[in-house]
Amino acid sequence: MLRQSLVDYGKPLASTQAATPVPRGGEVLLRVSHCGVCHSDVHLQDGYFDLGGDQKLDVRGNRPLPFTFGHEIAGVVEALGPDAKGQAIGRRVAAYPWIGCGHCALCARGDEHMCNAPRALGVTVDGGYATHVLVPDAGYLLDVEGIAPELAGALMCSGLTGYSAIKKALGYARLGPLFIVGLGGVGLMGLQFARSLSDRPVFAADIDAAKRDAARTLGAAETFDPQDPGARKAILKASGGGVGAAIDFAGSGASLGFAQGPVVKGGAVIVVGLMGGGFSMPVPMFPLRALTIMGSYVGSLEEAKQMLGLVRAGKVAPIPVELRPLEQAGRTLDDLRQGKIIGRVVLTT
Ligand SMILES: [Zn+2]
Ligand SMILES: [Zn+2]
Repeated sequence: MLRQSLVDYGKPLASTQAATPVPRGGEVLLRVSHCGVCHSDVHLQDGYFDLGGDQKLDVRGNRPLPFTFGHEIAGVVEALGPDAKGQAIGRRVAAYPWIGCGHCALCARGDEHMCNAPRALGVTVDGGYATHVLVPDAGYLLDVEGIAPELAGALMCSGLTGYSAIKKALGYARLGPLFIVGLGGVGLMGLQFARSLSDRPVFAADIDAAKRDAARTLGAAETFDPQDPGARKAILKASGGGVGAAIDFAGSGASLGFAQGPVVKGGAVIVVGLMGGGFSMPVPMFPLRALTIMGSYVGSLEEAKQMLGLVRAGKVAPIPVELRPLEQAGRTLDDLRQGKIIGRVVLTT
């Protein structure tokens, strides 16, 4: 099989070749047709997350090199292990990538995506920047009939992340509009789910005017530029006193500072993005504003199934997708690092 792999942290990806795996036990071999390129792969390639104040979170882990990224995988079932149940060769599927150990308390309650001993495709085990990928169990393969193949893989990350974050925000929607901050691939997905799951107006913000335009096209009631010094006031005015929940899909110190500003008393901020940096707030403001700040990391297998149901029901307009050949994985990571991409780039093999 052919792959675009990390050979060293902070270095360009390289073409590598390996024997195509033979599935054992309950494993399934997928022939990858599409794999989305995610901003989190940029951080994995760098080997760290920026925590602000010159602090770095090392995310090199114990990955064997060369390592193949790519967790937004759609493909066709090519071979089944002798014990693989419920899948047929030739079936078109998306792979749920956030696979856990299967034994711990988090996995037992259905939160494999939070497992501390993960087997996440493209993150801790080899993923989909390749012609083939091995999935440990057929239960992680989701039916994507009726969904465009170029979207099916990206839904497992950007779609699922957006869906799970918006679900957490919905409980606050009665307090005011939902406010999406950061309109990259995930933010635009989140905007769609917010529109389909809530009848409240949805506000959106991004420093990039083209991304604000994209958000308006997808139904944002109002858009704002975080770099406009009057933005917070304008949001308070347009919302009639503040937003119920802000969902920070950028996840930088600046974006979180901006996102929490117009949240009403009793409201919440859901931090999703992983851009990096630090954030501080006077401690008394938490009780005085009865403010909740929470994190949301991708989503569960169950949420993935719910989300695919919404997409299949036509509740979500597709985000802009650009197809590129697998060989352009590295170039695409560079473009993402420079903020040059609107919507999603999906690699095809
Ligand atoms: Zn992703
Ligand atoms: Zn676990």
